[in-house]
Amino acid sequence: MSATILDGKKLAESVRAEVAAGVARFVAEHGRPPGLEVVLVGEDPASQVYTRNKQKASMEVGIRGELHTLPASTTEAELLALLERLNEDDAVDGILVQLPLPSQIQEQKVLDAIRADKDVDGFHPVNAGLLASGRSGLVPCTPRGCMKLIALAGTKLEGARAVVVGRSNIVGKPMAQLLLGANATVTMAHSRTKDLAARCREADVLVVAVGRAELVRGDWVKPGATVIDVGMNRVALPEGAPGGKTSKLVGDVAFEEAARVAGAITPVPGGVGPMTIACLLENTLLAAKQRLAKRG
Ligand code: NDP
Repeated sequence: MSATILDGKKLAESVRAEVAAGVARFVAEHGRPPGLEVVLVGEDPASQVYTRNKQKASMEVGIRGELHTLPASTTEAELLALLERLNEDDAVDGILVQLPLPSQIQEQKVLDAIRADKDVDGFHPVNAGLLASGRSGLVPCTPRGCMKLIALAGTKLEGARAVVVGRSNIVGKPMAQLLLGANATVTMAHSRTKDLAARCREADVLVVAVGRAELVRGDWVKPGATVIDVGMNRVALPEGAPGGKTSKLVGDVAFEEAARVAGAITPVPGGVGPMTIACLLENTLLAAKQRLAKRG
């Protein structure tokens, strides 16, 4: 293995420590902590874990906030009414609605209903538009974390060839915008891309956010490239696996193969995942500061 392993857990710890210091300064200045409200609708086990982790992490850095757990039968009108209340509450700086939502609720309608200046996930069309036009807004947490990991690798983005595989609104598109903003030459690949392996081999920086276990093989990676693996896929282990484990988490990149070729690579788990939560905390502090600064 020749690649530098980019330790997202360690980097996330340092981001969290910086946020904690920023929160302490915010409290000293404004007499209250930044507020983050997390909304979970339904009982999806993965979403329960994510929201608990987000709330725990925010408490640890001094951010205040409630986890609103609503039943799976919640109507769209009930959820919108809660969001309206949180939008109006001056002590709330950030609002996050955990996705996916039950089928009776239109996701886009809900995301659009969160005030753009409290949209710490960065999914509101205003924030997407600000990012696309190179202006400052709230940037989605996962791509923001990926940029920090690329910086950790020491990769120079100016003039570099960057390839983003995946074009979702929450990862692929904002990721491409951030890379473009850093003066990389960006290609966006997706399920209709022809000869994906060849496109990937052109990349000095390869970011993969697809959701297909180990899609990207070692021979798709340009020697020395920086590889950021966003994917989180749970795959079954054969019977009798060590420790009695029945499944494990893998990325969208075949890690062992790619690590032999890449210059730097993120592991799964322990790469992008921890950075997403750390950047959510950073976004919450930023949203609080920006909102209060606007008021003068
Ligand atoms: P989406 O399902 O919204 O998007 C997947 C994208 O991958 C689509 O643009 C799709 O193309 C593309 N795609 C699918 N199959 C292929 C293929 N065979 N070849 C090339 N492109 C393909 O996923 P997300 O962006 O929400 O998430 C992607 C992955 O990242 C998932 O594993 C998810 O769990 C993980 N994730 C991890 C986070 C973290 O914190 N670590 C945070 C968010 C996501 P098309 O548009 O043409 O359909």
